Amino acid sequence: MKISLHNVVKTFDTFRAVHGISLEVESGELVALLGPSGSGKTTILRMVAGLEFADGGNIYFGAEDATDIAVRDRGVGFVFQHYALFPHMTIGENIAFGMKVSKVKREKSAIATRVTELLRLVQLDGLQDRFPAQISGGQRQRVALARALAVDPKVLLLDEPFGALDANVRRDLRRWLRQIHDELGITTLFVTHDQEEALDLADRVVILDKGRIVQNGTPEDVCRNPANAFVMNFLGDANRLPATIQAGTAHVEGVPFQAPDMVDGKGELFFRPTDIDWREQGEGIPATILRVIDRPDNRRVLARTDGGHAVEFDAPPEFSHGIGAAGHLAIQRARVFAAP
Ligand code: ADP
Ligand code: MG
Repeated sequence: MKISLHNVVKTFDTFRAVHGISLEVESGELVALLGPSGSGKTTILRMVAGLEFADGGNIYFGAEDATDIAVRDRGVGFVFQHYALFPHMTIGENIAFGMKVSKVKREKSAIATRVTELLRLVQLDGLQDRFPAQISGGQRQRVALARALAVDPKVLLLDEPFGALDANVRRDLRRWLRQIHDELGITTLFVTHDQEEALDLADRVVILDKGRIVQNGTPEDVCRNPANAFVMNFLGDANRLPATIQAGTAHVEGVPFQAPDMVDGKGELFFRPTDIDWREQGEGIPATILRVIDRPDNRRVLARTDGGHAVEFDAPPEFSHGIGAAGHLAIQRARVFAAP
């Protein structure tokens, strides 16, 4: 089922948390809402769920205006970071709960069959008689997903469902969630503040800043063509150096960079740590190495440009220049944005 938001607004007292958001999630698509804490992700998701009502705009499920439909009639399944399972019920009872209280009446045996199916889907076969306290955090979130899926929702809403788990478990779970999504094809809106998680999982990433959409595109779009400095910074480590733009060229510490279509004035050059080659001689921004930090797959070099700005870059494990070495930063890929 397709979800459409048209100019949705939400204000708490005098604070506007969501500023006229328009967004479509196509039927069967997995879209990530990505933004820092406080950017309005949960508020948007709660409005789609019907747990919160918009005070402007409309939300459609397919062709139907769902803006004022109550949560229990929307046919949504949701999983939240702290959407605790019922501790006194077994895993099987937790998964069956929604089916038992649903308006759609099911035979006991049909419920039992469905619980077994869902346990298999979330790879927890045989654990139906355990209690939530007897399984791991990752397993509990899988149960929460099974419970959300039990009533065949038209739409799945996930709010940082793996947020409380260890990094390794999170990575496994998101690969797994993507597989389940591909199997079921259920329209899914996934909220996260974790860039890697969004890029890993989603068909499309919608990036929010202070209640506004700043970019909406495929993972490739947002990575290769960040819309502005906020997106560039938010998606990963970025170096920034002040630039002066003149006639389509950005000048940075004596080195020119193409900046077509940009108005003359102050700008900023952005580039990722992986986009630099260190040259002992030749062209580039002159700099001195301050420190080298070892990582499992490379070395992170902290340097300072002759203009006094900090820059970090990644070098291969063989990189052998030490503290105090002088050289040049050859920047392979850079973007210029207007100064804020
Ligand atoms: P996110 O999920 O991206 O961290 P939220 O949607 O939870 O962001 O919150 C967006 C903004 O709205 C925040 O500034 C938050 O403090 C505010 N907010 C959220 N819910 C309420 C509420 N019930 N009352 C007042 N302010 C709220
Ligand atoms: Mg939130």
